[in-house]
Amino acid sequence: MKLLLHVCCGPCASGAVPWWKERAGQVLGLFYNPNIHPLLEFRRRLVGSREVAAHVGIELVEDLAYDPEAWFAAVGGGGDSRCSRCIDQRLDRTAAEAAARGCDAFSTSLSISPWQDHAGILACGEAAAERHGVEFLYEDLRSLYGESRRLSREWGIYRQKYCGCVVSEWERYRDAVEGLD
Ligand code: SF4
Repeated sequence: MKLLLHVCCGPCASGAVPWWKERAGQVLGLFYNPNIHPLLEFRRRLVGSREVAAHVGIELVEDLAYDPEAWFAAVGGGGDSRCSRCIDQRLDRTAAEAAARGCDAFSTSLSISPWQDHAGILACGEAAAERHGVEFLYEDLRSLYGESRRLSREWGIYRQKYCGCVVSEWERYRDAVEGLD
């Protein structure tokens, strides 16, 4: 089976790619994450993903389009619906790429993270599969999260402190900065 794996970042890929490599005959990665703000953070996670791809021995396809204005126009808005649209955008692109490359199925490294909405990943993946005619394989890989962090530390991979968009950065740090000035 030829599988296209959406790679959200290096740390998640360090656990997810080996798991999928053991089960699929061929794994190809796709870095497509226009949700990562700001640009230098986007580049750090891209570099981390490249380093992991080299460690685990897969080819990494890269979509380097970066346009926060376009992202907010397509995904912006509040709360859970924003995250659902964000995941949907990335999995739709992955499904389209999988179809174009003749892959049998696609999946995402997001499913290793305990911080992501797994019901949303499943729903968005299945909807994208339906639209593009390629199977979506969901696996709950959260039990591998600790190992993925250990591996990324060992390999010196950049580890981010927030999900991706500037809203998530604000949610992560808003309490910490209170009273600093
Ligand atoms: S918090 Fe994460 S999943 Fe939600 S919109 Fe921001 S980057 Fe996307």
